[in-house]
Amino acid sequence: IPVDPFDLVIFGGTGDLARRKILPALFRRYCAGQIPPEAVIIGAARADYDASGYRDFAAEAIREFAPGRSCEDGTLGQFLDRLDFVTLDARGDTGWGDLAARLQQGRVRAFYFSVGPGLFGDLAERLHKWGVADPDSRIVVEKPFGHDLATARELNQTLAAHFQESQIYRIDHYLGKETVQNLMAVRFGNMLFEPLWNAQYVDHIQITVAETVGVGGRGEYYDTAGAMRDMMQNHLMQLLCLIAMEPPARFEPDAVRDEKLKVIRALDDVLPHHIVRGQYDAQQGAENAHPSYREAVGNPRSKTESYIALKTHVSNWRWAGTPFYLRTGKRLKARSSVISVMFKETPHSIFGAEAGRHANVLTIRLQPNEGITLQVTIKEPGPGGMRLVDVPLDMTFAEALGPEGSDPPDAYERLIMDVIRGNQTLFMRGDEVEAAWAWTDPIIAGWVRRGEVPKPYDSGSTGPGDADLLMQRDGREWRGIV
Ligand code: NAD
Repeated sequence: IPVDPFDLVIFGGTGDLARRKILPALFRRYCAGQIPPEAVIIGAARADYDASGYRDFAAEAIREFAPGRSCEDGTLGQFLDRLDFVTLDARGDTGWGDLAARLQQGRVRAFYFSVGPGLFGDLAERLHKWGVADPDSRIVVEKPFGHDLATARELNQTLAAHFQESQIYRIDHYLGKETVQNLMAVRFGNMLFEPLWNAQYVDHIQITVAETVGVGGRGEYYDTAGAMRDMMQNHLMQLLCLIAMEPPARFEPDAVRDEKLKVIRALDDVLPHHIVRGQYDAQQGAENAHPSYREAVGNPRSKTESYIALKTHVSNWRWAGTPFYLRTGKRLKARSSVISVMFKETPHSIFGAEAGRHANVLTIRLQPNEGITLQVTIKEPGPGGMRLVDVPLDMTFAEALGPEGSDPPDAYERLIMDVIRGNQTLFMRGDEVEAAWAWTDPIIAGWVRRGEVPKPYDSGSTGPGDADLLMQRDGREWRGIV
């Protein structure tokens, strides 16, 4: 179903995110017939492009980052005709009058802040000052949303001076992933899971977000942030919320976000010995060896973590006593984002000791190969007696429901269309972000106070050995990086 005609302005339209994600996502939605032909997409940045130059820029981005899309001949040309460009300075007066003049009355206006966070406030103020935004306009704010609680609060206040909360779309692209939405469908659309979804039947929960890449070109920023701020405070926390939250009464923005907020507020403080921080070393002896973290960020004394693993609890009636283990890191052995809901073993085995002990595991894989599997125990086929084996029940919906060979839509496709439709369910509310910082701030302050240095780990490994010990001390082990 096509969305209503809209004007979308991409501030930072010539940046890396616009090139790799936003423009390709818009093109795919155009191919899917969701973007009406009257829609206008305006790149706005300091660069000196005209419309035709920006179309060339977008065409190249789409060829590189949305290749092989089955799109009829000529569709790329039609899509590019929707693009325009305004040279504009977020900190000055250049370009704003020009931008205001290009927007049309009576249609949805959305402004995507795809610029560094230092410019979010400038953009909000100038959108207001130049009368570019109207009361129904939406702004889309990228991460990072603040550096800590104080800066997040300040940013919320700056945005709130010019926009209502209902106009502000704080992106966490993990929420746009097809499998994350499917997690909610599986949890709340089936009778099977919800009665067991609590401390009585769940042994523990694990969330792993492992990357093989290093800090790349983001070294300067990353060294001021680290894995806690860059990944844990937002992406892993959001995943934890969706797993742990109570069923909202409706799948509506505030109903969902109220429940997520309650989870964050119920999180226990994390004890220092329940956290392992790591920093990757150079790869030893490998061809094309990668530099160490400290070399990559150009800071030989950096104490910033590129890896973090921690154990926490959601202290409420449903989850009391159930540990949540979270870990994320760079330059690890495999690229893998997985949530595992580890159910308890059956209380008694009628098959005797030799059948072993078995437990169900619900695995939600976000990447690669998005999908959900439920590990169940069955009899090993054949005449060999009552031997038990664990097999995965595959709920990989892309294969079951999608056209053959189709990839799930990229998170940005779903999220940008939600902005145009005015649906905030998959976006973070201001109080959620603040609560998440309120939980992370004291943890980070503790490291600083104690002068903690992260543990080195080998590039291409599964992270520091202490993270394995964190699990082993509890008689458990990590899953998810194979
Ligand atoms: P980038 O540095 O590649 O691009 C920044 C853009 O902002 C450019 O188009 C530049 O022209 C424009 N810009 C800079 N100063 C300006 C000014 N004064 N006035 C007008 N335009 C100005 O950055 P990016 O990687 O595209 O990231 C953009 C935002 O998205 C950042 O907040 C980043 O943290 C976030 N983000 C990026 C990625 C990614 O994969 N690149 C992923 C998640 C979030």
